[in-house]
Amino acid sequence: MADLANNTYVQVAIPVPMRQLFTYRVPTELTTPALRLGERVIVPFGARHVVAIVLSIDSHSEYAAEKLKSILSRVNDNFHFSPELIDFIRRCSEYYHHPIGDVFQQALPVLLRQIKQPSIDLPPVWKASDNITTAEQAASAKRSPKQAELLAIIQQRDGITWSELLTLGFNKSQLKALEKKAFIYSQASEVSRFSWQNHYLQHSNRLSLSPEQALIVATVKELANQFACHLIDGVTGSGKTEVYLQAMEQALAQDQQVLVLVPEIGLTPQTLSRFEQRFHVPISLHHSGLNDKERLQTWLAAQRGSAAIIIGTRSAVFSPLTNLGLIIVDEEHDASFKQQDSFRYHARDMAILRARQLNIPILLGSATPSFESLHNGRVGKYHYHQLRKRAGNATMAKISVIDIAQQQMQYGLSGTLKHAIVSTLARGEQALIFLNRRGYAPAINCQECHWLADCQRCNKPYTLHQSQGLLICHHCASQKRIPAQCPSCGSVRIKPLGQGTEQLEEKISELFPDYSTVRIDRDSTRKKGALAKLLTQINNKEHQLLIGTQMLAKGHHFPNVTLVAILDVDGALFSYDFRAAEHMAQLLVQVSGRAGRASKPGKVLVQTRFPEHPLLQDLVNNGYQHFATQALNERQQALLPPFSFQALFRAEANYPSYPEKFLRSLAETQCLGCQFAGPVPAAMEKKAGKYRFHLILQAKSRKQLHQAVFQLIHTSTNNEWQSKVRWSVDIDPIDL
Ligand code: ADP
Ligand code: ZN
Ligand code: ZN
Repeated sequence: MADLANNTYVQVAIPVPMRQLFTYRVPTELTTPALRLGERVIVPFGARHVVAIVLSIDSHSEYAAEKLKSILSRVNDNFHFSPELIDFIRRCSEYYHHPIGDVFQQALPVLLRQIKQPSIDLPPVWKASDNITTAEQAASAKRSPKQAELLAIIQQRDGITWSELLTLGFNKSQLKALEKKAFIYSQASEVSRFSWQNHYLQHSNRLSLSPEQALIVATVKELANQFACHLIDGVTGSGKTEVYLQAMEQALAQDQQVLVLVPEIGLTPQTLSRFEQRFHVPISLHHSGLNDKERLQTWLAAQRGSAAIIIGTRSAVFSPLTNLGLIIVDEEHDASFKQQDSFRYHARDMAILRARQLNIPILLGSATPSFESLHNGRVGKYHYHQLRKRAGNATMAKISVIDIAQQQMQYGLSGTLKHAIVSTLARGEQALIFLNRRGYAPAINCQECHWLADCQRCNKPYTLHQSQGLLICHHCASQKRIPAQCPSCGSVRIKPLGQGTEQLEEKISELFPDYSTVRIDRDSTRKKGALAKLLTQINNKEHQLLIGTQMLAKGHHFPNVTLVAILDVDGALFSYDFRAAEHMAQLLVQVSGRAGRASKPGKVLVQTRFPEHPLLQDLVNNGYQHFATQALNERQQALLPPFSFQALFRAEANYPSYPEKFLRSLAETQCLGCQFAGPVPAAMEKKAGKYRFHLILQAKSRKQLHQAVFQLIHTSTNNEWQSKVRWSVDIDPIDL
């Protein structure tokens, strides 16, 4: 029995779906060296041992000492959460009413969540030799431009892992070739504090700012070292990135770190190289392509202050940066900033929370700001800045609508569109054809009895993936072989129904056999480095016809694309989701932004059966700004967000009556200043075998929303249905 005389107690966060902290005793032998807040300890929990985070250290406890279990051991590895980060994570957990242990868990790199200690030998990094002569380098560059490009990146980065290079589109033989020439060598990576005050800036490639840009940079600088949220609303190519770069100078000059959040697919070699060319400082990347070891490395680099700039996707918002001076959220409207399962946080909103906590500025940028941010900009909560013109002499692409009800269609292309493609190709330029549906066809059916292959677990048709020879359910990912015969009538006449990108690629190659076609979607870019490789091929003009899903809409520069076609926008015009129009407009404008970025003028063609639809007309004729104003007025009248605040309660079970009854009883609660809508079956009522229901709680103020959610979570513990369902709450939901 441990000594009960010793009285040190800790309260810890444990990764379980419970909202409280847990108290443990600390055995005397574990009290030296002194316990620290934020350190990890191993504790018994039920029959398991788990990693827990110490959140308070006390000399007494409200529980009797003999009733408490003791911690088993301390991890003692210096990876503890700083008080600042603990405070931030607690605020996140409170904002989303999400179990605190799970929030801490998600903020930790996977290797630090495990009881087994990770070996800290990190992957080696590649460095460039100092004694390559200019002549050698030039001769080699002539023979192999790709190797030269690789060498340039290694020279700039001063320590880059193979995996990062793979993400940037290079292959092992290029690396080996450079190693053989002794141009590069590998070295164990080290993590040490870095000071970048001197010589960090490459002044030579700094652009002189337009008056609009200069005004923004000046305002940001004037309001440095305090909380200020700046919204930069600027069309694609208007020079937002240049504004970010110049706004970063001041923070870096003060030896502070900068966090740059980008959408999931926005992290391109071009993005990275613009930061690298400007600043001679260590940059860490944080994205889903990294393996666990690399994530740990990025985490370490942030914590030990050896990374000056962290560029990362959603979860980078939890990076343990020790001296953060500025946060930038690029493409702030992008839905990938919101995590759509378990801990449903919005990285942009948490970035704002973090900036407020640290009292530092934050920049949000977009060509199509979210309505929430636009509203905050207009009411003066954010500093609202506009960049109205494209930089240099690039002009905005013109959007035109094609009425497909009036035209003969072939493979989803109208005659007008085909002509436009032909003349674009004839001029030696590229065309981008956008279809937001991957796979070969969204369904297959029997021509004789109309049997449709659908997923029994979701009651939705299977998507045909011809190249893999599979039917895949896009909702639960279950797979099936393509049947040779109809299981209902035995006919062999089973045909694809509708068209996805895979089929479009096949048909376009048939229609334009003299040109090369490339497809960019989640299927064609699954392999690490594949996306970067295809993007390079496009920029090298190896392909003339680009086919893709929304992946192609995001942030890429295609200087030779002068025609963008959107095959079908109609789904979004008539949707039950009040955000569908906003998302359609953002997508349309973002895709259009890919056209005519260089000096060549671009053109955008949108196919629709409803050319007179007022939203579409407004967007096409008056632009996103005007469209957003109109749509925001409509939301104000309907009291929808951002003019009210929502929480979505989701519940699911094997039987439809359970979740419905659970939510119905929640909806009977009286909550001050709030209204309920529902419960209603979710848009996907059945998914992966579970029946799903939604209940929306809407409040006039955020405070009332929080109070109501708190109250509902509290009352749910006495609810007779609660143990029969799985339920969760989503604050500020974006997909209903
Ligand atoms: P955005 O981030 O808004 O899409 P970028 O910052 O990428 O815009 O700028 C688009 C192009 O215009 C880039 O090629 C950039 O180098 C150029 N550019 C930006 N600002 C200026 C400027 N002040 N003078 C000249 N060119 C500029
Ligand atoms: Zn049949
Ligand atoms: Zn399914």
